Amino acid sequence: MLKVQNLHASTQEGIEILKGINLEIKPGEVHAIMGPNGAGKSTLSSVIAGKEEYEITEGDINFLGDSINEDAPEERAHKGIFLSFQYPVEIPGVSVTNFIKAAINETRKARGQEEMSAKDLLALVRQNAEKLNIKKDFLGRSLNEGFSGGEKKRNEIFQMLMLDPKLAILDETDSGLDIDALRIVADGVNSFKNEGNAVLLITHYQRLLDYIQPDFVHVLADGKIIKTGDKTLALELEAKGYDWLVN
Ligand code: ADP
Ligand code: MG
Ligand code: MG
Repeated sequence: MLKVQNLHASTQEGIEILKGINLEIKPGEVHAIMGPNGAGKSTLSSVIAGKEEYEITEGDINFLGDSINEDAPEERAHKGIFLSFQYPVEIPGVSVTNFIKAAINETRKARGQEEMSAKDLLALVRQNAEKLNIKKDFLGRSLNEGFSGGEKKRNEIFQMLMLDPKLAILDETDSGLDIDALRIVADGVNSFKNEGNAVLLITHYQRLLDYIQPDFVHVLADGKIIKTGDKTLALELEAKGYDWLVN
């Protein structure tokens, strides 16, 4: 599904942050990327999603058989790449439901499909709201306006379930992931994943991996993947930290 080869990326000022990343994700897999602060984890997720803040200087990102290096972020989203916190803006007057409805229909339009009927949309909203224990009044609230950390998380995971991407990238940058938020993310990912999609979970919290079983765990340090293992690697990292790998 995703094949990243020898990926180098720099900021617009020419500072190289990703220094030769190789990563292959197949359908049905969950990959976790861990690593010390400043390693380049968020940059990697941004570069896969196509954020224009970074420039690919070498290497390739292939998604579903095609290079997406030149694709704009929207095109990548339409092809089925979802990045959490892609839509973190507050939009007073636009409800959680109406926002996601617009996003779904924009994607359908880009794919040459008809708008989703109100009936189908309602059924999908109900189904996913139930999975995440989302109440009706939450669905009517203005997007992100006055949302608590947990509510933001819930909305983000709701967006993922509603958009049903092929590859979901969740970047858990916040140090404020309390136990409720961890559960929301874990329940969301576990109900999302199936044999046809994949998840790239970026976190420096081993605890999250107590609830989500990754197939592969990668350690990113100084812009490179320096070690890959299975979920036992996450436990080892929790016990030993990163220094034994980095030095
Ligand atoms: P992580 O998510 O692993 O903590 P980041 O990807 O956020 O790491 O950042 C990696 C390194 O690149 C850090 O040193 C950060 O300061 C730097 N960096 C990231 N984005 C930019 C940018 N747009 N301009 C300058 N430096 C950046
Ligand atoms: Mg950071
Ligand atoms: Mg980060």
